[in-house]
Amino acid sequence: MVYLLKGTMQNYIWGGSDYIPELLQIEKKEEYYAEWWLGAHSSSPSDLILNDTIIPLNNYIKEKPGVLGEYSINKFGTELPYLLKILDVKKPLSIQLHPTKEQAELGFKQENELGISLSDPKRIYKDSNHKPEMMVALSDFWLLHGFKTKDKIAKSLEKHPSLSPLALRLKQCDLLTFYAEIMRATQQQLEKWLLPIIQQQKAAYEQNQLSLVNPDYWVLYSIESMEISLTKLDPGLICFYLFNIVNVNKGEGIYQDAGIPHAYLRGQNIELMACSDNVIRGG
Ligand SMILES: [Zn+2]
Repeated sequence: MVYLLKGTMQNYIWGGSDYIPELLQIEKKEEYYAEWWLGAHSSSPSDLILNDTIIPLNNYIKEKPGVLGEYSINKFGTELPYLLKILDVKKPLSIQLHPTKEQAELGFKQENELGISLSDPKRIYKDSNHKPEMMVALSDFWLLHGFKTKDKIAKSLEKHPSLSPLALRLKQCDLLTFYAEIMRATQQQLEKWLLPIIQQQKAAYEQNQLSLVNPDYWVLYSIESMEISLTKLDPGLICFYLFNIVNVNKGEGIYQDAGIPHAYLRGQNIELMACSDNVIRGG
């Protein structure tokens, strides 16, 4: 039996305004269309259309788990084990990583015991699932994916005199300590690191002369598209020098396993992941 399924929209402000409405041929009523979900996640389940009635997919599966098929039930239990999304990334997203299954089960249990509501912004674990993600680009797509090696990080920092103290610091400590220190940097410190680069590269950026594999391009692009004030710089901007900047061509894919820090920067894609909304923010 084949049923009609109606997905749900997430109008996060980093989304574009045209791609998803045009793809789905729907009337534009909102300013941002970031994600379109097909799945049974309890925070935003798709609707199953059954003759004259509409029933949320998660409720339908709860009533009739047999529709999942024996193989899926034996392997993943009585929930739909995946979530499919279409994303239109207009503004860069924050750095994030997703927990392993063990971390998610423990975190979800602990936050439940602490009585943190599922809708509380402080809540990290919204379910007990891991969230490995597989995506295929629907357009030229750019993202940050995992840390570069320490050598490569040092090289990219040494290109700028204002960042060379960071390259020295990296030689004295491990990457985790180094990253934590940057994430706690003061505004004054961030200005010392970043303002000289912004001033030096502004004209080249505006004339489209910076390569997209150059971290400087993404610092300036983020400041412009996210309307970041130069008096309120974000430590996440330093991440462009620490992470791999990856270009995925239309039709190509990339896999983000649990624990790999990543950030989508620009483009459209289709994503398949475990049925989870567990995101740990990292800047
Ligand atoms: Zn992710």
